Amino acid sequence: MTNLEQERWSRVKGRLKAEVGDDVYSSWFAGMDLEAVDKHTARLSVPTRFLKSWIQSHYVDRVLRCWQAESQGVERIELTVRTAAVKSPATKRSDNQPEPLREIKLERPNGAESRIGGGAPATVSSAHDMLGGSPLDPRLTFETFVLGRSNALTHAAARQVATARPGDLVMFNPLYIHAGVGLGKTHLLQAITWAGNAGGNRKVLYLTAERFMYGFVSALKNQNAIAYKEAMRNIDVLAIDDLQFLTGKNMQAEFCHTLNALIDAGRQVVIAADRPPADLEALDDRVRSRLAGGLVVEMGPLGEELRLEILKGRISAARQYHPGFEVPEGVVGYIARSITHNGRDLEGALNRLLALSKLTAQPVTLEVAEREVRDLIRPQEPRRVKIEDIQRIVARQYNVSRSDLLSSRRTANVVRPRQVAMYLAKTLTLRSLPEIGRRFGGRDHTTVLHAVRKIEHLLGNEPALADEIEALKRMLQDPN
Ligand code: ADP
Ligand code: MG
Repeated sequence: MTNLEQERWSRVKGRLKAEVGDDVYSSWFAGMDLEAVDKHTARLSVPTRFLKSWIQSHYVDRVLRCWQAESQGVERIELTVRTAAVKSPATKRSDNQPEPLREIKLERPNGAESRIGGGAPATVSSAHDMLGGSPLDPRLTFETFVLGRSNALTHAAARQVATARPGDLVMFNPLYIHAGVGLGKTHLLQAITWAGNAGGNRKVLYLTAERFMYGFVSALKNQNAIAYKEAMRNIDVLAIDDLQFLTGKNMQAEFCHTLNALIDAGRQVVIAADRPPADLEALDDRVRSRLAGGLVVEMGPLGEELRLEILKGRISAARQYHPGFEVPEGVVGYIARSITHNGRDLEGALNRLLALSKLTAQPVTLEVAEREVRDLIRPQEPRRVKIEDIQRIVARQYNVSRSDLLSSRRTANVVRPRQVAMYLAKTLTLRSLPEIGRRFGGRDHTTVLHAVRKIEHLLGNEPALADEIEALKRMLQDPN
């Protein structure tokens, strides 16, 4: 397959994800691969027969449309099952599986249609609707949020924000929550929104960064930008999700104004992003420092116990709509043990089992579970390494201070560690050269490039340095 095809395929997947949402995507498409594109046919493979039949009957037109948006020539999607057919009894049985019922709605018992605007709980204030708040999922509340070691502090801060009364002193502003994908950021932000609006005396608005941008753009188009800004500044709590997607100079300026206006007026701002403020490269220094000026909290990976509790909660919620859905403890334990990444994949795994049990009336056995969720089990993802950690660990290792690393001193005992740290920042993070330069005392990107080249060169000639760097990498990547 050519690079071009691979790239196109990534864009198709991106479109699909944007259309169906992250949760649905990880339920059904996480394990879908491109095998080949012949003239008019895109050949895709999935790991199980069940996935094939589910996608075939529910999503194949969507997938085709996403293809056609990227490449006119494709007229057909062909789905195959990837693994060599295992002749287990279960596989045979699924040969005469009934055609899946299209009307069963599994992913969202209170589907998207009924979130906001439709049959949504009447408690969400009109502020959220009026300003075009992003859709809220009725399941993402504090009641369904499971507490564990990795999220206790963040949860407490979110609670505090949600229960504050109008006129209360704002304790942390902004509250800035960061964590990797699927670790509960959106859940907490929406929980704040539901809880905050429930009393009716506070206006809480939840927006994704994309929605925030869209709101401004359309207000500008309709020439009511001023009214929009006024309305925006009249809310009590503004929750902005996925801030890493905020782009463009104008948008930054608007965001910065809104942020400042709200904070100065004593209104609460809550932000979620996939990285700490210092790593939001697209934002300028003033915004970054304003963001870091409140409370910054991080949520770590979900521990096994937490995963188990989340699963149990999800299963009992599903059983309200599908009473026949029984998942033996052994299966729950298996999923909690093997899907270690994030809450989204846990949900994806359950959605598949639920669909399977509804449609085939098969009991959910360990064997079925192993087969159906296999492709969601991924190898341990490398830990997110932060530039701060690199600086701290390198400084400790070479017995210099962090400020030495950032300083302009050029003595040999600081130059080498500084170069090592920049090299590690380039190789272990996704940060750009200018960004790394900025984080190392405002250096130019050419200085960083020079350091990286220098260390690369030395690595070939100095085995001792290679060992040192290996050791540092291990320290940085070991979760403890
Ligand atoms: P993020 O926004 O950080 O990518 P989400 O908030 O969308 O992640 O969480 C992904 C899924 O995992 C959601 O279905 C969410 O309800 C679930 N989840 C994550 N953390 C928890 C938790 N502590 N308790 C209950 N569900 C959780
Ligand atoms: Mg999210």
